Amino acid sequence: MSLPSRTALVPFISVDNMMRLVLHVGIEQMMVELAEAIEADFRRWPQFDKTPRVASHSDIGVIELMPTSDGQHYGFKYVNGHPANMRQGLQTVTAFGVLADVATGYPLLLSEMTILTALRTAATSAMAAKWLAPCDSRVMAMIGNGAQAEFQALAMKAICGIEEVRLYDIDPAATRKCAANLAGRGLRVTPCATAEDAILGAQIITTCTADKQYATILTDNMVGGGVHINAVGGDCPGKTELHRDILLRAGIFVEYPPQTRIEGEIQQLAPDHPVTELWQVITGAAPGRASAGQVTLFDSVGFAIEDFSALRYIHARLQGTGLFQELDMIADPDESRDLFGMLCRAEAAARVA
Ligand code: NAD
Repeated sequence: MSLPSRTALVPFISVDNMMRLVLHVGIEQMMVELAEAIEADFRRWPQFDKTPRVASHSDIGVIELMPTSDGQHYGFKYVNGHPANMRQGLQTVTAFGVLADVATGYPLLLSEMTILTALRTAATSAMAAKWLAPCDSRVMAMIGNGAQAEFQALAMKAICGIEEVRLYDIDPAATRKCAANLAGRGLRVTPCATAEDAILGAQIITTCTADKQYATILTDNMVGGGVHINAVGGDCPGKTELHRDILLRAGIFVEYPPQTRIEGEIQQLAPDHPVTELWQVITGAAPGRASAGQVTLFDSVGFAIEDFSALRYIHARLQGTGLFQELDMIADPDESRDLFGMLCRAEAAARVA
């Protein structure tokens, strides 16, 4: 089935259809393709409208809007972050998003993005690690074994060649869940009792915890020379994962500095502390890892262009699959100015019926 020809009918990808699409493409294959789509958009970074995301904070969480446009398409994501949700059996992060046509302003796609966010975050992490981590990285520590964890592990396997993942979470049930989900997927999975144990022998350390506070998941003495840290969980003002001393000796790579300085690990540093934008490493405009012994840090917060890339990728991948419903969500009268007349005709039809 092709996408609707009447522009007023908007293809909608439900959670169920997103899962079917992911399984149809293959989980790892989709993250490889997503990383390619994101990298292609990072290469044309200057073409995008960019703004830090619009955040509405409460004591227990945040709701954010993440818009961007490349002049042809416009995309935005609605996303929340509520670490306490887990205790009520709810997700910490949920999301949905829209892709629209800049020429008409009409939406082209409405999509679930909770699963898509996990996929795109993992794809972005692995893309950054491909450019920054030691080239012989085979072992990753995965600290925080919640909803994002398996995606992170599999993207690092598919894109960076990780062979072993060492799991740690303050909640052993999360580690058991993660280990069970990763069983039989081609990774050596080692559950660990402490974060110190998890990072033993790891060239990549991913932190992906959720707590609305300045947490110290890694202290300075835990991080040896030459490792790459993929810090995913610190993504809000007052919500970080790394001790400041690690930042002071690391080469720091970010998505969009005006947003990361508010939300990332670097909120702990002076506003002019030097950082490198990842897109510049990818285009060759800035160097990546400076030496084998350097600690590199990808201070990930998640940026709108990654969601835009993911929505465009999904829109293209959807063609011919039939894995969508058509939503009648744009009022589009046959005669363009007769919006009221459309309502009158519906009124008359309802009287007859
Ligand atoms: P989740 O609630 O499902 O999992 C978080 C896990 O962290 C839980 O299992 C919890 O027990 C564990 N944890 C909390 N404190 C810990 C500690 N001190 N040591 C070890 N483990 C600890 O959340 P999730 O959906 O997996 O998201 C994880 C984090 O990633 C969140 O903070 C979220 O906001 C962030 N996130 C970032 C991006 C991005 O693009 N950077 C995208 C999505 C999510």
